[in-house]
Amino acid sequence: MKTQRMLREVLSRIDGRGYPAYKELAGSWQMEGFVLFVDHVQGDPFASPSSLRVQVPAQTARFPEDLYANDTRKTALEDAIARIFAEKIRKFSARSGSGKSGALIFPQPSPEVIKRTAVSVDGGTGAVTAVFRAGFPAEGRRIDGRAMERLVLQKIPALVQETLVYPNLDGKVLSSSCDLAEDQEALRAFVKREGLAAFVADGAILPRRDGVSKAPLPGAVPFSSPAALRVTAQLPHRGTVTGMGIPRGVTLITGGGYHGKSTLLSALSLGIYNHVSGDGRELVVTDDTAVKVRAEDGRSVFADDISLFLSDLPGGADAHCFSTENASGSTSEAASIVEAAEGGAGVLLLDEDTSATNLLMRDALMEQAVPNEPITPLIDRIRGLYEKMGISVILAAGSFGAYFAAADTVLLLDHYRVSDITKKAHAIAKGAARAPRPFAGVPSARRCPVQDAALLDPRTKVRTDGTDGFFLGRKEVDLRLVEQLACEEQTQALALCLLYLERNCFDGKTGIADAAGILAKRLSREGLSILYSGSRSVPFLALPRKAEILSAVNRFRGLQT
Ligand code: ADP
Ligand code: MG
Repeated sequence: MKTQRMLREVLSRIDGRGYPAYKELAGSWQMEGFVLFVDHVQGDPFASPSSLRVQVPAQTARFPEDLYANDTRKTALEDAIARIFAEKIRKFSARSGSGKSGALIFPQPSPEVIKRTAVSVDGGTGAVTAVFRAGFPAEGRRIDGRAMERLVLQKIPALVQETLVYPNLDGKVLSSSCDLAEDQEALRAFVKREGLAAFVADGAILPRRDGVSKAPLPGAVPFSSPAALRVTAQLPHRGTVTGMGIPRGVTLITGGGYHGKSTLLSALSLGIYNHVSGDGRELVVTDDTAVKVRAEDGRSVFADDISLFLSDLPGGADAHCFSTENASGSTSEAASIVEAAEGGAGVLLLDEDTSATNLLMRDALMEQAVPNEPITPLIDRIRGLYEKMGISVILAAGSFGAYFAAADTVLLLDHYRVSDITKKAHAIAKGAARAPRPFAGVPSARRCPVQDAALLDPRTKVRTDGTDGFFLGRKEVDLRLVEQLACEEQTQALALCLLYLERNCFDGKTGIADAAGILAKRLSREGLSILYSGSRSVPFLALPRKAEILSAVNRFRGLQT
């Protein structure tokens, strides 16, 4: 391996030369206490910054084994280190010179704790690796060797010391992150074992500071469970916690406008992830197969059987194999429901604010006036979804008393405080219940397997756009309304998932949901690296669920059978 002294020599030799001379830096360099990998060197100062990795061996990193003794603790440790790295790297990033000179880039973490590629701890050797990008310094198009020397011989070693060497970190913060993650996994197991759809701890802070921030709202009313639904869980580190157990079945979250319904529902929808300490939703845990569905007019739908909700579509469209480039509110939401069901969702989450009203409900006067309504609304399907298919539904709605009779549990939000009004709601609904319509169920394996293996060019360029979606070549996958995506790294992973599926799983025999399931299993067993094997540098990725892989595939405008 090349030494630090050689690196210094190269830098003084190429100082002032044309930018391409930086290519000499590619490869690995033995630095004091760590190895610097230069995986990719940018072509010019304005191109995407160069890809670097630093790897600290166990004898220098010295993280106690207990912090990565199992997968849950390891993921939490990696996440905690990544948060420190994200914080510290900003201090060393200083743009000066041309283009992206001096910029250091690392993903800003969201409050969700997810397996990612940015920082990894090798469970076998105890070595710690961080991936980042650096804009190699230039003046105009000439190499600024002195600035580069400061970057690689001073800043990066200092960054490594401050982030990847255990004795320099706060060990308590790291071990409590690992403990919290284990408590959250224990709570998730509790939810499953007790036949619950979700759990919200007493004292949880659900609202966020504002529409864009993911920080908790200061001064918020802490969550408090209604007595009737209060359950007690024993966690390995925190011990006893109490909170609201939402039973499986049909749950209606009701209440006046602005009393906190949507806030509770969105906390539940992100309860599929673990959250960092201080988030307020650390002990809000939802069945990890839960899928938030909503209306998404304009989305593309490919060969979905939406006959559960629609029949006799105008223009002769086939509800058993429905495709469109431009779905309506109701057809898009119906499609999302059957797709989630096909993907194995155990819980569906819906909010009236983002649902198509006509898919939720139709009143008696309208039934008399409009003869050719193709929609059978959710109110007629919701019991069947649970009783015949085992899919629980949690619906936030303040305007449909018709759901009282269909609900097993009715929660009332009043000034952000929850009470259980199931008995009262059932009494009010007495006599007003609609006769349920026959329920056919969502046909399984309804979709023709994807055939065409030549959908994408092998050199397809991938470009992500925050959590909004991605482009594969010129084909866009719009994920703006896929609400359970936590971060841009997940979006990036989804783009690579689609390429992976196209190359490895779309064989003309395997259905889309099965293919997504196979990939999700491989990702959790073999790691995210299967998505970028053969690539020069490590992309910033975070683990998506099967449900989000499926959401991305289902929104890809280019599926063919
Ligand atoms: P709804 O869906 O019932 O109309 P929202 O959930 O949108 O109500 O909440 C309305 C407002 O109340 C939001 O600004 C939200 O941040 C705030 N809010 C929600 N829960 C709480 C709480 N527990 N404490 C303080 N403010 C809250
Ligand atoms: Mg609302």
